[in-house]
Amino acid sequence: MKWARFRHAGSVSTGRVEGDQVVPVAASSPLSAILDGTDATGDPIPLADVTLLAPIDPVRNIFCVGWNYLPHFKEGEVVHGERPLPDRPNFFTKATGTVIGPFDDIPSHVGLTEKLDWEVEMAVIIGRRCVDLSESDALSAVAAYAVAQDMTGRDVQHAHGGQWFRGKSLDGTCPIGPWLVDAGDIADPQGLDISCSVNGAVKQTSNTSTMIFTVARLLAELSRGLTLLPGDVLLSGTPEGVGMGRTPPEFLHPGDVVESTVAGIGTIRNRVV
Ligand code: MG
Repeated sequence: MKWARFRHAGSVSTGRVEGDQVVPVAASSPLSAILDGTDATGDPIPLADVTLLAPIDPVRNIFCVGWNYLPHFKEGEVVHGERPLPDRPNFFTKATGTVIGPFDDIPSHVGLTEKLDWEVEMAVIIGRRCVDLSESDALSAVAAYAVAQDMTGRDVQHAHGGQWFRGKSLDGTCPIGPWLVDAGDIADPQGLDISCSVNGAVKQTSNTSTMIFTVARLLAELSRGLTLLPGDVLLSGTPEGVGMGRTPPEFLHPGDVVESTVAGIGTIRNRVV
């Protein structure tokens, strides 16, 4: 099932998405609806009449992994030269203030970055307190999946020693949604088409099967000595086709529209302003 957070008639609610409608429910958040169950509290509302909000509330940690799709790792050679494949995932975080709704505008941060880049990602939402997960048991800790963008100011990143946190933590650079999809509805998180277009032109198109480290392996590695809590989010990496790796490089400008899709989950769409 799909669980959304939305604003309608001046108030914020949680709802179950059914086709092109959303049914208001009693749960305080989409994650609570998945974990605790919930009852409908009102009549269906057309999705066209609501504003979908980020489906994670409150926003907890936003863990991320770099270079997790093999073709994307290869396209990084444009900037970084030839490198051996990593034997462990390269983790970092985004500041929680980056999170915005699935159809919200993304600030261009003109004057701070001239190299705002797109990165479509599958977001993994943790459903229970856990630590030291085994790879074989790791997916049992996942409550839901969503679509996200890990927008990055490449020049900001490179101006601060190359460490990723700064360039990936600009306000409004993590749209997420359009809703949470129950993990039980995703039979195999390693078999989903994932894509991103800018102004209607496809820039990234791949499949989660080309991840270097599976979601299960990522969670096993991340949770070693690090307790994960319900609502923590892991962005599982971006596939090939980012602007930085193109010839010539391409970046986002005010007015550009970025559309990001993971098959079986949904599509988010954000205008750069
Ligand atoms: Mg990323």
